[in-house]
Amino acid sequence: MRRKLVVGNWKMHGSHQANAELLAGIRAAGPFGCDLAVCVPFPYLSETAVTLAASDLRWGAQDCSAHAQGAYTGEVSAAMLHEFGCRYVIVGHSERRGYHAEGDQLVADKAKAALAHGITPIVCVGETLAQREAGETDAVVKRQLSAVIHTLGHCAGEMVVAYEPVWAIGTGRTATPEQAQAVHALLRTQLQAATAHADTMTLLYGGSVKPDNASTLFGQPDIDGGLIGGAALKAADFVAICRAAG
Ligand code: PEP
Repeated sequence: MRRKLVVGNWKMHGSHQANAELLAGIRAAGPFGCDLAVCVPFPYLSETAVTLAASDLRWGAQDCSAHAQGAYTGEVSAAMLHEFGCRYVIVGHSERRGYHAEGDQLVADKAKAALAHGITPIVCVGETLAQREAGETDAVVKRQLSAVIHTLGHCAGEMVVAYEPVWAIGTGRTATPEQAQAVHALLRTQLQAATAHADTMTLLYGGSVKPDNASTLFGQPDIDGGLIGGAALKAADFVAICRAAG
């Protein structure tokens, strides 16, 4: 039985005050019957680490550099994230792939850099609406995951994979549980061919998860929790989603 994981992706939202209130609201509602994490903007990692140090909640970042160090202005290394106690880092989010032209190999290299510093990469894969309508969903997610599997080699079993259909992110349009499960099953089969740990790996669904659709999605056999964007910014919604997973 895989334990569920719910991860909040705060994206570029927050302030000292809003973050403190949000984290206090989540903590007050616990404990939960699932694992929980928040992936916060870089400037808030320090205060998040202090706030959550004595709690069950985990924290992480939303991106990291593929490079160890050097002249890469604006980038943040996995070693730095490690110093702030990050347990997770999201890599390959569609907003990074889309707005920053991040390709499959770069995403894979970022995942490798994270693991080298003991941070679990949450590797996002997912198709655009045009790709889904062209019947390319399976090929797209397989290609995206394949790059990471090959780059991580025998460590592939240590990543978390998040299936996030691009057309469902921030749109209010969620994949049906059947659509999501079909892709998750495909991803798990691909992982089974690559690692003996595939059956214990955590596969998250992301894309307009809300309190009212979370339990059906999380009830699917290969969906082990969620990567939550908009609904992670309101304590009541995030807590309700976590309860659906617990
Ligand atoms: C995300 O940003 O990873 C996400 C899933 O966003 P939302 O829940 O808002 O669709």
